[in-house]
Amino acid sequence: METMSDFSIKDAQRTRVGPGFTLSEVDPDSTPGFKGGNKDLDRAFREPDEELLTLQEKLWANGRRNPEEIGSVLVVLQGMDTSGKGGVARRVFGIFPPYGLKVYAFGKPTEEELAHDFLWRIRPQAPEPGQIAVWDRSHYEDVLVHRVLGLSPAEEIERRYGAITDFEWELSQRGTRIIKVMLHISPEFQAKNLLDRIENPEKVWKYQPGDIDDRRHWDDYQEAFEIALTRTSTAYAPWYCVPGDDKDYARLVVKYLLLNELRSMNLEWPEIHFDPDMEKQRLFDSMK
Ligand code: AMP
Ligand code: MG
Repeated sequence: METMSDFSIKDAQRTRVGPGFTLSEVDPDSTPGFKGGNKDLDRAFREPDEELLTLQEKLWANGRRNPEEIGSVLVVLQGMDTSGKGGVARRVFGIFPPYGLKVYAFGKPTEEELAHDFLWRIRPQAPEPGQIAVWDRSHYEDVLVHRVLGLSPAEEIERRYGAITDFEWELSQRGTRIIKVMLHISPEFQAKNLLDRIENPEKVWKYQPGDIDDRRHWDDYQEAFEIALTRTSTAYAPWYCVPGDDKDYARLVVKYLLLNELRSMNLEWPEIHFDPDMEKQRLFDSMK
């Protein structure tokens, strides 16, 4: 995949979280693998669209015809407030027809959800065969905000890392390809975004006073992210720590990670179980 910027799937994969990962070594304002200006970025961003649409259509078609045999894709988006999770969902996945998509934003759990294990509300949002699911926040909140604000006891949080990898293993065994993305922003970038949110009548609805409380725990959140990413980045459900201060760059990376996943599924159109010539003849006969 050649573009003026030469941005490729390999470049996107450089954001993958491997052993010895240290969050502080990722500069939120960097754009690994990308050189060039806005025009190059825009071009690289649009280039895979046609292929992506065809791949998604093949995935969906197989979900309709061969649900027993086809897998699905799950994209988990995490990041501090204003890190651009919603923007990724809209800009990267918004190109697909709604029927093949399952987008869900996990907010504060309800009373009913709190009465169950933390994965109870998560499971039903997993993608069906042939679907692409996008989670804006996820089961990771239960080891992020819970750790930082002490919403659960330490032993329970400790248990959850294992419960999470078990859950993701289970999904992967059912044929779900999992891509987990942390949109890594700087506190300065967040401050700018929050100010913009408060001042903009069209965005202020997104603002919650609690955002500032979370912001006061910035370092604790970074630590919680580092632990979660290190402990749950597996071969079957890897994390990608994507610099997020340049939103367009972050969207570019997510799009190429998705492209890679869909390509690796070796998708074909479903086989047909009738004879097209015979069906054509029947059609002509019906017109007489
Ligand atoms: P937003 O995504 O900005 O609409 O905010 C959702 C809020 O719900 C954030 O403050 C999250 O930290 C919070 N949240 C999401 N999941 C959980 C969870 N499992 N436990 C506690 N808080 C959560
Ligand atoms: Mg918010």
